[in-house]
Amino acid sequence: MHIQRKEYTKFREGSVQGRYVTLDHILPFMNAMSIHFKVVQVGISVQGLPIRSLTMGSGNLKILMWSQMHGNESTTTKALLDLLNFLASETALAKSILKACKLQVIPILNPDGARSYTRLNANSIDLNRDAQLLTQPESRVLNEVYRLFKPDFCFNLHDQRTIFNVAGTREPATVSFLAPAFDMARSVSGNRISSMRLIVAMNQALQLMIPGQVGRYDDSFNANCIGDTLQMIGIPTVLVEAGHFEGDYQREQTRELIFWALLKGLETLVHDDLAVFAVKDYYMIPENEKLFFDILIKNLHVINPKHQNGTALGVVFNEVLEQNAVQFIPTFEVLEKGWKNYGHRTYDCDDPESLSALKNESFWSEIMN
Ligand SMILES: [Zn+2]
Repeated sequence: MHIQRKEYTKFREGSVQGRYVTLDHILPFMNAMSIHFKVVQVGISVQGLPIRSLTMGSGNLKILMWSQMHGNESTTTKALLDLLNFLASETALAKSILKACKLQVIPILNPDGARSYTRLNANSIDLNRDAQLLTQPESRVLNEVYRLFKPDFCFNLHDQRTIFNVAGTREPATVSFLAPAFDMARSVSGNRISSMRLIVAMNQALQLMIPGQVGRYDDSFNANCIGDTLQMIGIPTVLVEAGHFEGDYQREQTRELIFWALLKGLETLVHDDLAVFAVKDYYMIPENEKLFFDILIKNLHVINPKHQNGTALGVVFNEVLEQNAVQFIPTFEVLEKGWKNYGHRTYDCDDPESLSALKNESFWSEIMN
């Protein structure tokens, strides 16, 4: 009952793409989906925007997924739309999933942050640090949804920055996972084991597509994070972080990878074969490291004598919303001799060809100072 990778194009929601994804962008899709699934408003944001969820399936196993809790983290939202298209497709696999489970999906939990392209909500609060205090309407909406729905599993969907590599390698962490802890000792309970096994299943699917490009997030406990809170009350939760794929700043490749990971997750849960995935394989996933720059410029002293031999320049793009589009604005960090970073792109000022290419970069004059 498997579907092949090439079939993804049938499910990809073409009306929504790129990094800037707001309620307005997904509204036509949500309206179209209301033919297949129950679409309801579950609450409103600080600025009065609707927070909507879609519910589907008739099975006993209840699964809750939400995305864009951080407003500028839209890749998993795009993947959710693709997944919803798949679930509405009436293929044998889609039907079997919907027969076995009941799924509730909130594509954009923080619509104000999505509109302003910010991590935070309109009161400048990080909703993923508000799971205990529930000071924000969006946090209370999610709290009410999980209290009413009583999910057996939760998927907490995010984006991560381009700085992450897979520990010990120069591969980007294109996708990262975490089975959140529920106490300071990072103990392992039955629920946490379920999260770990589910991650192992999703990782297995991803390794076939992006070998070596999956990382594991640090499991320090913080009760204010939603995943940790859900684990504390006994609901297995997985954190999924969509990251950088080479050259893919619009995150359209990563979007597809998240689609496959989520589908594998659903398949594993509904076919009840979680136990075949070993907990030790969760710990075998290397941790995330922060060694990447968007651009790395080696031998800086060649173009700017104030720097010592061996100094490099790391460039990180800040994502800024300008005229309804995300612009990538370079910021700079000088790396002293002994640096051991990687660049998604690299220039070497000691190589004439590389140097002349560097001179074509828009920020060339800035780095000469
Ligand atoms: Zn996030």
